[in-house]
Parts: sequence; C-alpha cells; structure tokens
Amino acid sequence: MFDWLIVGAGFAGSVLAERIASQRGERVLLIDKRAHIGGNAYDRHDEAGVLIHQYGPHIFHTNSEAIFSYLSKFTRWRPYEHRVLAKVDGMLLPIPINLDTVNKLFGLSLDSEGLAAWFAARAEKREEIKSSEDVVVATVGRELYEKFFKGYTKKQWGVEPSQLDKSVTARVPTRVNRDDRYFTDSHQYMPTDGYTRMFERMLDHPNIKIMLQTDFEEIRNEVDYRRLIYTGPIDEFFEFRFGKLPYRSLQFKHVTLDRPWLQPVAVVNYPQTEAYTRVTEYKHLTGQRHEKTSVTFEYPCDSGDPYYPVPRAENMELYKRYEKLALAQKDVWFVGRLATYRYYNMDQVVGQALASFRRICAEVAPPKNR
Ligand code: FAD
Ligand code: UDP
Repeated sequence: MFDWLIVGAGFAGSVLAERIASQRGERVLLIDKRAHIGGNAYDRHDEAGVLIHQYGPHIFHTNSEAIFSYLSKFTRWRPYEHRVLAKVDGMLLPIPINLDTVNKLFGLSLDSEGLAAWFAARAEKREEIKSSEDVVVATVGRELYEKFFKGYTKKQWGVEPSQLDKSVTARVPTRVNRDDRYFTDSHQYMPTDGYTRMFERMLDHPNIKIMLQTDFEEIRNEVDYRRLIYTGPIDEFFEFRFGKLPYRSLQFKHVTLDRPWLQPVAVVNYPQTEAYTRVTEYKHLTGQRHEKTSVTFEYPCDSGDPYYPVPRAENMELYKRYEKLALAQKDVWFVGRLATYRYYNMDQVVGQALASFRRICAEVAPPKNR
C-alpha cells in the first residue's frame, strides 16, 4: 500500500516525490512511461561519450533564490550564461535583437540612443498588443519581425505568429545595448554532473519506489494507493472528454561529428532557412572536453510526444473546462507543464511543485507514528 502514486518522473513529479518522502515520511510510488527519470530534462552520454540532452537543450535560469537553493541540495552547479546566434541573410547575428544585431545586419554604427530612435521610427502602432506578431512589430517593426520571428515561429508552432498569444514571442526581449545573453536572470547555471544525476540524488530515498516503462493506464487499478499526483497531459487523464488539447511536438536528430566543434555558441537559430528551427552543440553548455562534438537538430511537428502547450485563447478555454474537472477530483493533484497546460520553464515547474507541496501539507494531515 502506497500513500501516494505519482505519475511522471520529470521536475513536477520528482520534486513532489522527494518532498513527500523526506518531509512527511510517506511512501511514494513514482511511475513514468519512459525508460528513464528526469522527464524532458533527461540527459545522457551518447555512444561517443558526449553528454547530450535527449529532448533538446535545457538551460537552467531563475530569479528565485528559494528554487535555486532547493535544487542545490541535489547538485553542484557550473556557471553558464546562454548565448544564441540567428542565421539571418547569411550572417550569424545575436538574438535577442540588440545593438550589434542591427548594426551588423544593416552596416550601421548606431549607439543605444540611436537604436531606440531607429526602432521607434519602424515600430508599428497597435491599439492593443494581443498576438505574437503584435509584440514584435510594435517593438522593432516589420522587417526585423520577418527576418527573425515570422519564419521561426511558423516552423515551431505550425501557425502564423498572429494566431498565437503574445506570451510566446514576448519570451524573447529586445535590447538597445550590447548584452547578448539569452537570459538576464540572477541565477544561470548548468548542473555540474548533468540533470539525470541531479534527479537520481533527488529520488534516492527509501520511501520512494520508482517504476519505469509503466503507463498510468496499465496500473491505475492494479496498485493500492491513497492519493494521486498526476503530471501527464490533463486531457488524457479525462480520456479527452471535451476533445484534445493541442500540443506541439518535436523530432530530435542527434548527431556526433568527428571534429571538436561545429558552431561558435551552444545554439544557432534558423529563422529563414532549413526545416529545423535550431541546432544545439552541447559541449558549450556542459563544459565537457571531448575530441568529438554532438549536436541536435530540432524539427517541429504536430504529432509525437506533447512538448509544448500551444498558448491560444481557445486552447486556454478548453483547458479551463478540464481544470474544472480536475478541481472537483478528491485526493488528486495536477502539477506540471502538461497537467496544468502551461508553457513553463523548469524553475517555474519546480516553484509550482513546491507550492503544491505546501498546499498538500495544509490540506492533508501527516500520517501518525512516522
Ligand atoms: P515533463 O518533464 O514533461 O515530465 C512529465 C513526465 O510524465 C514525462 O516523463 C512523461 O513520460 C510522464 N508521463 C506522462 N504521461 C504519463 C502516463 N500516462 N503514465 C506514466 N508517465 C507519464 N525549461 C527551461 O527552464 N530551460 C530550457 O532551456 C528549456 N528548454 C526546453 C527545450 C525543449 C525542447 C522543451 C520541450 C522544453 C524545455 N524546457 C526548458 C521546459 C522544461 O522541459 C519543462 O519546464 C519541464 O521539463 C517540465 O517538467 P514536468 O515535470 O512538468 O514535465
Ligand atoms: N522565436 C523566434 N525566433 C528566434 C527565437 C524565438 O521567432 O530566433 C520565437 C518563437 O516563436 C519561439 C518563441 O519566440 O517559440 C520563444 O522562444 P524560446 O527561445 O523561449 O523558445 P523555447 O526555448 O521555449 O523553445
């Protein structure tokens, strides 16, 4: 008899398993249908011995001291500031768009003030910023939007940026200075021994039993448990009663090259050409030294594992109907990117899981004599 069944061994499920096992002394069965823990953050050494991310590049960044210090119990960190270049008009240019991007692209020598005026002269007026197109054209104008955002977004999401909520492209800022970091968070690190090792330490507790290659469907009526935490897709949990929630998927092509480096930074984006959106070279992220290099090409697609909830008003409405069902469930908690249909980064999922743990502690009396 388990006190808790937790479905999904990604950040959401693993953080809750760790908290419940270590702080409440309760017995947890953690299952995942995949053959490994770590969810989409899973990393592994490939055949050549290069550490790669099975599901595309995962860079940890947060402004939360609490989240950083919680994860620091399970890993040491390597300082890493992420930099991305976009291949535009045959050049490799900094993205987020900054002073160097514009000066190099157009052969200008603007300063920050000059660039602010340059943007202002091109920015399109919008009564209301609603879509992912609005956000960009209202800041930098149509030409840069078309070169850096339109093609990438169409590839990545399968729809025009005008059909996507503003929150998607708003993830990428615009700068008038020369800061070429992808993120500006106060904490930017990679786990020194990788994500999988961090998850292994998190889950190394006698109260946690892990079952891999196990689908919730297979065992939901076979295992004895009192309470459930579900981190899979919420529509699947309710057998798609109101219809399928759209997710965007990716196919990853992992390649090892017989040379030490391929590209100058960890990620190069392809907004204008190629069927893939970006190429990641892991040694830049991990600091690993190796005579070969391993890279991943990302090809977006509709079917396959559900990686990205698609932020659009109609999808949020459909999610809200499922959420209503979820809230009415007794002794079931829905946590994580798929179960709450949110385009969350890792730190946000950890924050959500820690908040769920506090709620659980407020609502569920701890077991006696443990
Ligand atoms: P997941 O990691 O998806 O874990 C859910 C788990 O549940 C999966 O392992 C799945 O197999 C399992 N599961 C689902 N259904 C069932 C079932 N029925 N039975 C059993 N098991 C089931 N975030 C960042 O902060 N920085 C980044 O650089 C970054 N890059 C990303 C790049 C890509 C390509 C993607 C897709 C995401 C990226 N993210 C990044 C987001 C990050 O992956 C997520 O925030 C985080 O992994 C979500 O954790 P989770 O536990 O909610 O979900
Ligand atoms: N984006 C773009 N061009 C770029 C980088 C990003 O159009 O060079 C858009 C695209 O729609 C993408 C979104 O901005 O999905 C968010 O980018 P981010 O790098 O945060 O995507 P993620 O890493 O989550 O896939």
